[in-house]
Amino acid sequence: MISNTIKYEFVDAIPERLEERTLYVAIDFATAAHKCYCGCGQEVVTPLSPTDWKITYDGVSVSLSPSIGNWSFPCQSHYWIKRNAVKWAGQMTPEQIEAGRAADRHAKQSCYGPKGQSSQPHARETEPGFLARVWRWLSGS
Ligand SMILES: [Zn+2]
Repeated sequence: MISNTIKYEFVDAIPERLEERTLYVAIDFATAAHKCYCGCGQEVVTPLSPTDWKITYDGVSVSLSPSIGNWSFPCQSHYWIKRNAVKWAGQMTPEQIEAGRAADRHAKQSCYGPKGQSSQPHARETEPGFLARVWRWLSGS
């Protein structure tokens, strides 16, 4: 797993030009911003609120939670900022994958119900492929 150190800066307002590998925190605006740590240059703005992100400052380092998932960017990078370091979240544990799949199933069921699922033959067809991929990944080949 790759981890990379970042800097942080507490600012009055988020500057127009963000420096690479720096997390800017504007307390007055309850906002943090940084350039995507994959290096693609996209600016990631994370509002700070009880239902969005929260920042932890321990006097030496900053952490941001939950994770940053840049699904709307071409890079699709996903990482955590923990104690001034970028922890790439690309590698998920089998438990996380299973939990995600279970949550997905649950969400689909409560959305469409069992009958709705049968009207989605395409989704069913793709399922064995996904499971086979996960199984191959779990078995390490
Ligand atoms: Zn990126």
